[in-house]
Formats: sequence, structure tokens, C-alpha cells
Amino acid sequence: MRGFASPLAAGLALAMSVFAAPAAAEDEAPRWSLAIHGGAGTIARADMTAEEDAAYRASLQEALNAGAKVLAEGGEALDAVEAVILILEDDPKFNAGRGAVFTWEGGHELDASIMDGRNRDAGAVAGVSGIRNPILLARKVMTDSPHVMLAGEGAEVFAAEHDLERVPNEWFDTDFRREALERVKAEKLSALDVDAKFGTVGAVALDTHGNLAAGTSTGGMTGKRWNRIGDSPVIGAGTYADNRSCAVSATGWGEYFIRVGVAHEICTRLRLAQTHDQDTLVAAMERTVEADDGELVYNAGRIAANEAQEIGDAVMRDVKTLGGDGGIILVTPEGHALYSFNTEGMYRGRATSEGASEVAIYGDE
Ligand code: ASP
Repeated sequence: MRGFASPLAAGLALAMSVFAAPAAAEDEAPRWSLAIHGGAGTIARADMTAEEDAAYRASLQEALNAGAKVLAEGGEALDAVEAVILILEDDPKFNAGRGAVFTWEGGHELDASIMDGRNRDAGAVAGVSGIRNPILLARKVMTDSPHVMLAGEGAEVFAAEHDLERVPNEWFDTDFRREALERVKAEKLSALDVDAKFGTVGAVALDTHGNLAAGTSTGGMTGKRWNRIGDSPVIGAGTYADNRSCAVSATGWGEYFIRVGVAHEICTRLRLAQTHDQDTLVAAMERTVEADDGELVYNAGRIAANEAQEIGDAVMRDVKTLGGDGGIILVTPEGHALYSFNTEGMYRGRATSEGASEVAIYGDE
């Protein structure tokens, strides 16, 4: 079995990129910020036709625009995250919703999660079939159940009780994903050999009210068996949002992201980094203060973009040290929108209230 810890992958430097938000003045218009991804992996210019390249960029831009519109109109971070992921789930180019990879048995088992940075409410579904938009189901679990994560048939019963749209299994099928499964079976390959691009989708957002949210959706890995579940629906691994620190969505070799607890690890390091010269560690852990109206407010310190970038990169280096790869997107309460990935490329994009709006694919752009 060939893993991603190949000499080529090992030789690649962490791809780093940052959009730094300027310091906020008291009278400045409220800021918003959005970052999205459509999976990381071996995505080389030489392997993409001009048409494929353009098609991926157009899809990413459409999803980015949908989320940016919500935020620019003063909408909620959760709604922006949902708007982005709905478009990417319905787009067959990505490994989420329609276009999800095939399981060993030729079906599709979908995973998704969403998290609200205001109060750390979270919802997730794992191994669900026949649900058109798993991100909507994850959000329902968050808002309409006392639970955080539902799996398999139980999650589908819950979906039926909440009128989530069902589609036949074939709705998710695509020829190129079926070929990937056939190759896995015929050549006794691992999913990693055929899924050189992971294809999971995700979004993280800061809204004009100062709230963060994160969401992730995936079909998992080609030829997965035994109800294998990756990091995407695991709160703290593939998704995390906390107004005190950041919002993160991940894509990559899920087992490693679970072991590192990637999304939570990044947020925790950011939260503790805010303590520099301001606070004791204990005080930082207890930054929740009660405002006059009784609302709980997180009294976050400010953090520089390069500091947040270093933290994201350090956690991705840790993933690589263990042998895993992939990438993350990150938004901070200050509005920094960042990516970090240790693969050749990552389908990604970001937009901010300062006018940034960009999509990218390869590590060198
Ligand atoms: N992280 C996903 C999983 O392991 C795969 C991906 O990112 O595409 O299920």
C-alpha cells in the first residue's frame, strides 16, 4: 500500500497563505470573513486540463459568492457556512453529497458536521445514505435534538421526522468515482492510491455580529468498509468553532486528523496564544464574561495573522509527522482568513468585507 508519506509528498513544504485583516477602529464598519475548501491532495497543474481548471474555479467562486452574500447582508456565520456547503454538496465534482465516493459495497455513506462558535453548539451525522444534503441534517441535529452526533439508520429516521429531502442512491453516483472504486477492487489499491485528491468540502465564517461558525461535509474515502467514519463529522477533528479562538474545517486523511484532534488543537493553541502579556493561562481559560444584558460574551484578546498562520502550520506539521496529509481553512475573530496544507494543492477560496475574493487550486498560487 502506498501512503501519502511518499518522497514527493514529504518533499513538499507546507503551503502557507494568509489574508491579514487590518486592525479594527472603533467606528469601522463591522467586518466579515469567509474561507472555503473543496478538498486537498495531489492536485498538479500538469494533471488538469484548462477546462477542468476553469470548472473547479467556477464552482468554488459560486460557492464563495453565495456565502459572501449572506455575510455582506449582515446574515449569520452559520447560514453562510450552510450556503457554501449546499452548493458544493450538489456539485458532482466534489466528494460530498452528489459526487460522493463509493463504499466497498457500491453505496454512499455521507458524513457532515456544523458548529456554532457562539455557544459551541454542534451537530453531526455519520454514515447516512439517501439524504441529499447532509449538512442540513447535521444542522437539524444541532438545533432540533438533544444530541451532537447521530449515525446510520437512526440518523435517517431522524431525517425523515424532520422532512429532510431524500434522494435515491443513484443520485450520488458519478462515473469517475465508480471507476475509482473499480480500481481499488481490481488492483487491490487503498483509497489513498485513487483518492489523490480528497474532495471533502467545508467552510468557516466570521459574521458582522462577531460570531464564528464552521462546517464540513464528505463522502469519506473510496472503498471504505465496516462503517468507517473519518474526521469530517467528528467535532474537534474535522470541524470546530469557538468565538474565543477560531473556526476550522479540515480535509485530508481522516484517521490522522482524528488522532491529532486537528480542528480543536488549532483553536486551543490560538486561545492560549491570546494570553501573551495579558493574562494568566487560567484566566484565558475563563474568558467568558457576563455582559450587562446577561448575555455571555467571550473577551478574546487580539491575535496577529502571522501568529494564527504559524499555529495552523504547526498543527499540520504534526499531522505530517505522524504520516498523514491534507489541509485546513481557518477564520479568526479578528477576521484573518487562512489556509494551511501539506499537499500539492487544495481547492480553496476566501472573501472578506475588505473586498478580497479569490479562489485557488495549486500550492504555488
Ligand atoms: N477527511 C475525509 C475523510 O477522511 C476525506 C477528505 O478530506 O476528502 O473521510
